[in-house]
Amino acid sequence: MQPRDLSDHSPYVPGRGDEEVARELGMDPEELITLSSNENPHGASPDAVAAIREHAEAIRVYPKSSHADLRARLAERWDVSDEGIWVSAGADGSIDYLSRAMLEPEDRVLVPDPGFAYYGMSARYHHGEVSTYTLDRAESFDQTAETVLDAYGGERMVYVTSPHNPSGSTMSLDQVRLLADATAEETLVVVDEAYGEFAEMPSAVSLLDERDDVAVLRTFSKAYGLAGLRVGYAIVPEEWADAYARVNTPFAASELACRAALAALDDDDHLDRSIESARWGRAYIRDHLDASTFESAGNFVLAAVGDAERVTEAAQAEGVIVRDCTSFGLPDCIRITTGTREETRTAIETINGVLERLELGVYA
Ligand SMILES: *Cc1c(COP(=O)(O)O)cnc(C)c1O
Repeated sequence: MQPRDLSDHSPYVPGRGDEEVARELGMDPEELITLSSNENPHGASPDAVAAIREHAEAIRVYPKSSHADLRARLAERWDVSDEGIWVSAGADGSIDYLSRAMLEPEDRVLVPDPGFAYYGMSARYHHGEVSTYTLDRAESFDQTAETVLDAYGGERMVYVTSPHNPSGSTMSLDQVRLLADATAEETLVVVDEAYGEFAEMPSAVSLLDERDDVAVLRTFSKAYGLAGLRVGYAIVPEEWADAYARVNTPFAASELACRAALAALDDDDHLDRSIESARWGRAYIRDHLDASTFESAGNFVLAAVGDAERVTEAAQAEGVIVRDCTSFGLPDCIRITTGTREETRTAIETINGVLERLELGVYA
């Protein structure tokens, strides 16, 4: 037998991890500088790690109270009702929950190009269809309501990524509001704020006070350094928040994920350090990389380097792993995650060396 026809479904292409590359190069993963997946170079909050140790024995039971506690804590953080918080396995899990809650077969979603692959993947899993709007590179991937509306044709869901992966551009709240006003009443605008902590702008959550057609995605994977745990959430309007009970995968966010997330929310020092270092790093990369870069509000910078595959491979051979953006449809670009200050400095020096040697034809 065979699964159903999955030819329209393309596999997710992650950034390369240090263990994978270290094995291939015969190096120790500790020697590598991994700046390919927008992970937190300062690690997880130590309080989150302590919470995992402390609650290790609790994994015997299903996560009922920890899940309720996390929802309540996040509701307080965002000043919404508990029902308005949809906790999930990563923000990716929330994308699935929104697809399940919104899409009838053949309903369409509108997603950015270039953009985060999982929006379209999730829609297709849920028998939806995908159209794209283009973020224009010549305009520095600028995001306005108009950019999206030019391509809008009544889709059921419209995704906005702010800060945008991989470019780092943002959409202002005024523009999100204009977009939501201009789209149909039955169109949900999903604002993905996976990198929201790093930006210097307010969250779109405030729009939920005034309307029921905007939802916001947040995650513990980036600024909180808990990517390996898989915990994120959506903040959705109270009017239809009760749909969660009908669409969520029972206990998808594990006991340890919920406990660690709760602890991380109280560790302001770790969060502040992570944000500060990303802001320093993105400015440093733009100032010192010998290539043209795009302004970023995230913990990464997109850079046009010519042949991304060659640059990525050459940098990797020198122990610096960055993201080749070919899978985003940008074969001349790499995305560099901000590391610790030392890592960022070393990485930029290495990449500049690679760019210089490529220019001189040394690798030819
Ligand atoms: C990393 C990321 C996410 C969420 O990742 P999870 O680990 O599933 O929380 C969502 N959107 C974008 C644009 C991302 O880059």
